[in-house]
Amino acid sequence: MKERIYNFNAGPAALPLPVLEEIQGEFLNFKGSGMSITEVSHRSKWFDEVMVDATERVRRLLRLDEGFHVLFLQGGASLQFCMIPMNLLLEGQSADYVNTGTWATKAIKEAKAQGKTVKVAASSEDKNFSYIPRNIHFSPDAAYTHITSNNTIKGTQWASFPDTGGVPLICDMSSDIMSRPFDVSPFGLIYAGAQKNLGPAGATLVIIRQDMVDRVPQHLPTLLKYTTFLESNSMFNTPPCFAIYTLQLVLKWLEETIGGLEKMEEINREKASLLYRVIDESGFYKGTAEKESRSVMNVTFRLPSEDLEKQFVQQALEHGLGGLKGHRSVGGCRASIYNATGLDGIKALVDFMEEFARKNG
Ligand SMILES: *Cc1c(COP(=O)(O)O)cnc(C)c1O
Repeated sequence: MKERIYNFNAGPAALPLPVLEEIQGEFLNFKGSGMSITEVSHRSKWFDEVMVDATERVRRLLRLDEGFHVLFLQGGASLQFCMIPMNLLLEGQSADYVNTGTWATKAIKEAKAQGKTVKVAASSEDKNFSYIPRNIHFSPDAAYTHITSNNTIKGTQWASFPDTGGVPLICDMSSDIMSRPFDVSPFGLIYAGAQKNLGPAGATLVIIRQDMVDRVPQHLPTLLKYTTFLESNSMFNTPPCFAIYTLQLVLKWLEETIGGLEKMEEINREKASLLYRVIDESGFYKGTAEKESRSVMNVTFRLPSEDLEKQFVQQALEHGLGGLKGHRSVGGCRASIYNATGLDGIKALVDFMEEFARKNG
């Protein structure tokens, strides 16, 4: 490739070009330090400013009040599958989980592996996770209810969050955090691996409410306790400095260039509707998710045959459109269209899809 392509990878995924350029511009000498941001101490004023700014931007974008804490951890979203029950599901308690796909299944498995009591309050496994369950009966005495806001692999998303009757919601927002505004008040904990919508791999954003912090048992291993990171401003040990720095720039772009989450949602909805329209009107492509449950971030679809799918992915790449292969566990095609994917990329993909359907339909 001589030039940058339109990148539809699911994660790690596209980053806003102005962010990459800003990183490039200050890479050798970060803010007059005479060093790269990857070379300065995490205790230096340079990195401290990055950390403070990143935290403040998360707070502003999601409108967090004093009751919420912002942490940057490592281990990906996958380590949260383990830390959440370890820290927040105590002896004698039970938690509700909604199983909407691969990642939720893993979260349930990690809780059970610790011998914790888990109730699957609802599941869409009966129809290959192609929808978000409705009219769920949640347990009123659960320690928490765990959901996955966007199902990256199956291409489904909660259009609105369920009412759990006051039981704290815990949510894996790895693939749609910061894609739309929402009311944080029902959430006890929100987590997201950075590599989809926030930055490069290596940092995990955790937003935790004080009443969840109060549950954390003393006896847990130091690095697996939320309180360790809360008490040290996420710097008990060396944090993933470069990932946090990039995330800070992505949030700055989101606030200052895009104009915040309301605007971001508007753009994201337009992007998704352009793609779903081609799928629905083509008679060639077939969406895999139930319409009411469709994701605005991961558009999953099939072609009439696996052979055509292979050709589609290959020819798309020749047209500068990359990353359109579905997850290895499900096959098919997937366009991941996170915040950083602009309308220009969507229009290029729409044109290609229409032409491919004309030629092969
Ligand atoms: C990618 C993804 C994960 C896994 O994230 P890691 O950071 O690789 O552990 C978990 N949940 C969802 C919804 C994801 O999209």
